[in-house]
Amino acid sequence: MRPAGKKAVVIGAGLGGLAAALRLAARGWSVTICEQTDSPGGKMNRWEANGFRFDTGPSLITMPWVFEELFEAAGTRLRDHVEMVCVHPLAEYRFDDGTRFIHTANLPDWLTIVRRFEGGDASGFLGFMELGARLFEVSKATFFKQSPFDRPDPSAARVLRQLPLRHGWGAYDKTVRHFFRSPQLRQMFNRYMTYVGSSPYRTPATLSVIPFLEYAFGGWHVHGGLYRMIEALVDLGRKAGVDLRTGARVTAITHRTGRADGVELESGTHLDADVVIMNGDASCAPRLLGRRDARPLPETHRSMSGLMFLFALKKTLPQASHHTVFFSADYATEFRHLFGERRFPDDPTVYINMPSRTDRTMTPGEGEVLFVMANAPANDGDAWDEPMVAAARDRVMARLRKSGFPDFQTDIVASTTWTPRRMALHYDMPGGAIYGQTSHGWRGAFLRQPNRDRHVPGLYYVGGSTHPGGGTPTVLMSAAITSDLIRRYEGL
Ligand SMILES: Cc1cc2nc3c(=O)[nH]c(=O)nc-3n(C[C@H](O)[C@H](O)[C@H](O)COP(=O)(O)OP(=O)(O)OC[C@H]3O[C@@H](n4cnc5c(N)ncnc54)[C@H](O)[C@@H]3O)c2cc1C
Repeated sequence: MRPAGKKAVVIGAGLGGLAAALRLAARGWSVTICEQTDSPGGKMNRWEANGFRFDTGPSLITMPWVFEELFEAAGTRLRDHVEMVCVHPLAEYRFDDGTRFIHTANLPDWLTIVRRFEGGDASGFLGFMELGARLFEVSKATFFKQSPFDRPDPSAARVLRQLPLRHGWGAYDKTVRHFFRSPQLRQMFNRYMTYVGSSPYRTPATLSVIPFLEYAFGGWHVHGGLYRMIEALVDLGRKAGVDLRTGARVTAITHRTGRADGVELESGTHLDADVVIMNGDASCAPRLLGRRDARPLPETHRSMSGLMFLFALKKTLPQASHHTVFFSADYATEFRHLFGERRFPDDPTVYINMPSRTDRTMTPGEGEVLFVMANAPANDGDAWDEPMVAAARDRVMARLRKSGFPDFQTDIVASTTWTPRRMALHYDMPGGAIYGQTSHGWRGAFLRQPNRDRHVPGLYYVGGSTHPGGGTPTVLMSAAITSDLIRRYEGL
């Protein structure tokens, strides 16, 4: 049944905002998306220079079926719009002591590597994957489907009883240490907690599901760049009648009737709505609601930000991998700098995404696109001015040099830099915290901003700062959860 003219306004055209809009439009809602920047996609965005095409945010997609489900909800098939490519091998890892290996989802090859590092014994890896698989079964029926604040589903309560308590409880790093002896594999598996912008020393072991997901279901690229996914969603939205407005900054969520009833734009325009969906950082909602006690998310609760250098290179690097991680010498110290001292690490772990190794459409011909990223704290006070960027860049380059990455300084034909501050200002996110609040401790990991506001009826949340958290597949899950809640509470 059609909702007879029900209107939704979505604040932000990030992945979650676009997905929620599509789901509602498919049910007959009239949807307007207000995006403050000049392009849709939010952090999943693009930059082009001299014919080199860059993704500015995500570089790797896991759980591809979540994307397929979104296209199905919009009445179509993913494969008719974008081509997803499974990246093989998954990644290359290089360590401070000169050790390096390729992480591959080819089980015999990977077990050979594990045995090499674990004294001939791969049982730790298999045990860790078994734990991840069991956590995945529980997550599918619970965490991935609804917020813990929602009315619990009785079947979910039954599944929760199967939560593997042994090693699935406690600190993530402790569980990694239990399953692996080699310092290299420990560092490699600890890195997965950066997928949620958090420290492996502070996250709960339940997040062991993350490495399992990547190993079991692969890491995916989108042919032509991940931004193609955004373009496909925008196109579907247009066809479904979604009104996408860029350069439209929302300055207030109005709630004159006691429930969210529209938004006010910087231009002064007021848009009426039956529901308002916040896709911007959820911690900014109190400010938009005009609450006097509105405060930004405290720094200590923020996930990490990042420092990214995007380099277009004229030189082709055929020996390089699509994804490479250059580890710091001491991971514990690096995370102490990031979260304890809240500063850019002396010796940062550096991640390079070079999609042109898999997909030559990213370059105009010869050359490579190099996305170089290091984790950084999401502080308000960091100026990220030229001297600060230069100092951080020196440390990034020092790590690459030490890890044997070829010098490319004279091959750069175009570049741009994204700092935490640039992200904070561009997307209106506290300190540039990429994943909203940290996943530290049980509260941080599992009790995020609920998808439905508990005080203002008609106000909903979607995206990485709400349940179930940041990262592209979980953001799409949040869109499914939010659209289900809207069906339940708004009558369709
Ligand atoms: C460098 C980087 C690397 C990443 N790597 C990966 C990866 O490899 N794999 C992965 O899965 N994920 C990755 N992510 C995370 C992933 O990009 C995000 O979790 C996801 O894209 C966030 O989507 P979202 O729906 O929360 O919206 P966002 O991207 O946060 O977009 C929100 C939008 O709301 C807009 N907005 C905010 N306030 C207002 C307002 N008042 N009025 C109007 N508009 C407003 C913003 O401008 C923005 O466009 C990465 C992110 C970054 C930045």
